[in-house]
Amino acid sequence: MPRKVAVYTRISRDDEGEGLGVNRQREDCERLVDLRGWTIAKIYEDNDLSAFKRNVRRPDFELMLSDLSDGLIDGIVAYDLDRLARQPRDLERLIDLYDDRKRLVFSTVTNDVNLATADGRTMARVMVAFANKSSHDTSRRLKRKHLELAQQGKSNGGPAPYGWQKDGKKVDPEAKKHIREAQKQILAGVRIGTIRTRWQAEGTGNPRQGTKRMAHHHVEHILTNPRLCGFRTYHGEILHDDEGQPVIGDWETINTVEELEAVCAAVAERKRNPSRGQPLARKYLLSGIARCGLCHAKIRGQPNRKWKPGSKASKYSYQCSVVNGGCGKVGRVGEPVEDLIIDLVLEEQRKTAAANATPHEARWPKEAELEAVEADITELTRAAKDRQITVSSLLQVLPDLERQRDELKLERGRFYRELKRVESVHSDIRTREEFRALPTIEEQQAILLHSLLAVAVHPAGRGARKFDPDLIEPLWRPTNQ
Ligand SMILES: [Zn+2]
Repeated sequence: MPRKVAVYTRISRDDEGEGLGVNRQREDCERLVDLRGWTIAKIYEDNDLSAFKRNVRRPDFELMLSDLSDGLIDGIVAYDLDRLARQPRDLERLIDLYDDRKRLVFSTVTNDVNLATADGRTMARVMVAFANKSSHDTSRRLKRKHLELAQQGKSNGGPAPYGWQKDGKKVDPEAKKHIREAQKQILAGVRIGTIRTRWQAEGTGNPRQGTKRMAHHHVEHILTNPRLCGFRTYHGEILHDDEGQPVIGDWETINTVEELEAVCAAVAERKRNPSRGQPLARKYLLSGIARCGLCHAKIRGQPNRKWKPGSKASKYSYQCSVVNGGCGKVGRVGEPVEDLIIDLVLEEQRKTAAANATPHEARWPKEAELEAVEADITELTRAAKDRQITVSSLLQVLPDLERQRDELKLERGRFYRELKRVESVHSDIRTREEFRALPTIEEQQAILLHSLLAVAVHPAGRGARKFDPDLIEPLWRPTNQ
């Protein structure tokens, strides 16, 4: 069995000049993986271009660490150590994993360091320490520059930023209220553009009277300015002192560091997400579980475009879709279907627990998809062997299918790992509120799939307006008595 490794790529501000875009990092890493005779389990990709340089969240890095520690992958390939770990604490977490699992592999394109050996780990610590020193040098230079400007009196030249009174030190309570309110909405999925439109109409956000138009980036800046939590900035970058701590200004703050980080993360997430104009891409509880009662195709959740905060319209619905191969004739508002199914499942599980029956194994919903991909691979390979297709046409499609297969397998591993975690707690879930409070949709789906095979959504009559629970049919998993 070839080793299944993670390819880790990251773009940061410094990469622009070096032409080290994600594509180049990925291609170089893929070549290296081939060379070593390993296979790629998954490509983990982070983007560091956010406002906060020090506390950047790296969701894929975190996911990779957890996959490594769960034994789902056998090692890491990255472009160089700098892409992988810049902060000593990230490096130490990696080193801990390599200390624990001696057989983990490691490789970088530049071959600068090897975490799989003890010497390599020592070397890596030195390199990260040096890299940190140089970025502190940079911030020291910036600070000096900033001080020069401050001495020339230039930093007090402009008007006070929105949120503060004229002296730039005391908070303007009215502005503070507006900022915090808008931030709360950002966290709930509202777009900056929506806030801009409202602020423009109200005349909020711009201290200069009479200006009609507000730029999008101006509103974004007001809501994500590091100054809000007291950080001093220079040209939009947070200044750090010699110890690497942010330099704190002498004005009143509007946010805590945690609050502002959450807002910045939400804004960055929205930028990364291509589905613009919609709330953060979300997963729907019954996607892949609900099926059309007419054509039996899987039904997915989709946001209701007409929905606005405060409106009575449903936020999302489940819709049989022609795009996904369905008839497109059946749909239902999202919330009542979910509530009904959650209640029915919890009730069913209470009964089952009472009857003390053995809980049935939940199954990963994409098993059939994986089987199909594997069957395709077998089929194509056999066709090439029998000379029905040429080897070169086989090789045009095979790598893609193999990638799909490996990603699905990885996902299956995560699903069952999650399930184990859930199984230990799910018997405590008694009410819909407790169910909804579970942190991930995956956990919630795992609980439903304990009892359900699928949910059939039957067509409602023409013009039917009222939600009819009788048209929602749960298909229960047979119990093994
Ligand atoms: Zn249908």
